[in-house]
This record gives sequence, C-alpha cells and structure tokens, in this order.
Amino acid sequence: MARAGDNYEPTAPKPYEFVSIPQVRGQDREHPAGHDRYDAERLSGHLSANLLVLTWLHVGAGSIRLNRSPKYPLIRSHVRVGGQVAMPASSLKGMVRSVAEAISHSCVRVTRAPRNQLPPGAAECRDKEKLCPACRLFGALGYQGLVRFSDAVLHPEEGVGPKLVRMPALHSPGKHRGPYIQSGRVVGRKFYKHGQTVIDANTPVEVCPPRARLDFRIDFDNLSKAEVGLLLTAMGLSDPPFYLKGGGGKPACYGSVMIQVQQFQTWAGAEELYGSYDIEQEATNMKQYLKAAGDLVEPDQLTRITSVLAYDPNRECPSGNY
Ligand SMILES: [Zn+2]
Repeated sequence: MARAGDNYEPTAPKPYEFVSIPQVRGQDREHPAGHDRYDAERLSGHLSANLLVLTWLHVGAGSIRLNRSPKYPLIRSHVRVGGQVAMPASSLKGMVRSVAEAISHSCVRVTRAPRNQLPPGAAECRDKEKLCPACRLFGALGYQGLVRFSDAVLHPEEGVGPKLVRMPALHSPGKHRGPYIQSGRVVGRKFYKHGQTVIDANTPVEVCPPRARLDFRIDFDNLSKAEVGLLLTAMGLSDPPFYLKGGGGKPACYGSVMIQVQQFQTWAGAEELYGSYDIEQEATNMKQYLKAAGDLVEPDQLTRITSVLAYDPNRECPSGNY
C-alpha cells in the first residue's frame, strides 16, 4: 500500500541538470609542470577577486550557534575564518574545479560508479606523470596542483553582514557529489540551477545575504595559456557569463555567486614581469587567455554549462523535502 511518504516527486521542477561526461583521450593527459622552478615558457601569476552573493550563501560550519532571538535560539552557523564569515579555500576550489572538470576532458574523481561504466578514459587519474587538465590545475592524489586558492572572506561593508534565514530541510550538502548513476548507467555530472530562494521554511541558518562580497585570491605557477584560460572560464568569466553555486541548500537555490575579478597579473619565468595593474590591459589579457582556453575547453560542454548555470531569479525552487 502506498503511503504519502512514498511519493518522492518534487512539487517544483527539478532544480538540477546532468551534464554529460566527455571521454578523456590519451592526448588529454600530460606531464604536469613542476613547482620547483619557474618555467620561462609558462605563466605564473595571481588574481584578486570576490564572490558577489546573488541569492543566499550558507557554508555550514557543522556546528550549532546560540542566537539571541528567543524565536530561534539555535541556528546552524556559517564557517568563520579569523572571526569573519568565510568560504574556506577548499570549498571555493571545489566549486571552480567541478566546472573545470565538466567543460574539459578531465577525469571523474568522486564516484561510486565502476570504472567500466564511465566514458572511455574518464576514470580517475592514477599516474601522476600523466594528468588530465583538472588534475594538473587543481591537484591529484600525490600531486599538489598549480593553482592555489585563499579562503573567501566576507568584505566588511555596512548592511551586508551575516543574516538569519530559514532554509528548507533538504539533502545535506555534499551528499550527492560526483556523477549520478541511473539504472546502472552514469548519466553525467550533476549541477544545481539558479532560482528563487525560499527563506521562510523550517531550518534557521546563518547566511551571507545578497550583495555581500567575499574577497579571495588565487595564485598560480607554470600554467600554459590554455590552462589559465580554463581556470578563468571555469570561474564563469567567459562570454556569455554563467554563475557558480557553493555551500549548502543548493536544491533550494541557495549559494548562487558571481565571481568578479579585481586584479589580474601574469608573468613568464622567474623575473620577467609583463603583467600590468592597468585595468584595461588586464581585461585584454583575460580575453586573450579566455580565447586560448579553446585548446582545453570542449565547446558543447561549455554551452551546456552556460545554459544550466544561467542566472534566472524567477525560476521556482522546491521548498519541501524531496
Ligand atoms: Zn584527472
């Protein structure tokens, strides 16, 4: 006999899409550049940027916090770094990496799928002498990666401090990482879409409100032009742009952020600095790298991600369990 609880169909349209997994061909895996010296043929540099919060962002600290409000005495607290609300470097990196993996011929790291159910070559890189684009940039088992993220820390600005909202009780964050398996078949990488956030449900959580800005920095060593381009593209900076999702409550449309670059500088080799702090020059440089990304970015995959992660503030999100 069917009970009401057996019906798992969402009332609102499903808040996610699957993005197919491209195969990883032999030529996609390369020997990664080292960390021990600057390579004159490759680019090192850094960028300063911020996450502009578009909906509500909750990066759970995994702890409960006492609240002064008698109505909500206990709330789920947001991660803090040095006393400031923040998104830890690891979460920030994971958010950018998941897009980089989906738009390039990169391996699938987090999965319960047997290797033979993945597209050809897509199983996790195991030889650190031959790494896929995402592993070269962000690291693999026993290899550090050429891109380093700082924590993203809330910009101290009047009126946009942490707030309290009531998030729908949905799946716990992180539970559905990796590609989704349906009837023994890997259907793709799962990406949650953007939409209207429900803030009057049942679970009190501490969030960064819309318009909050979290500052961070990325440093990179010995990247090819195309690898710099892949990094920038995965941050949603291509044209047309797209927006990333981080933290908890993704099914309820929490965690939509836009990455805005404030400063971007590259140099080749150890000393020869040719980057510039001139904002127009930086924009030109970034365009040049975004174009070079074509060597690593699969156009169909980028088109798909751009459509799934397009910002739509009017799209409805589920407000209950499902
Ligand atoms: Zn890999």
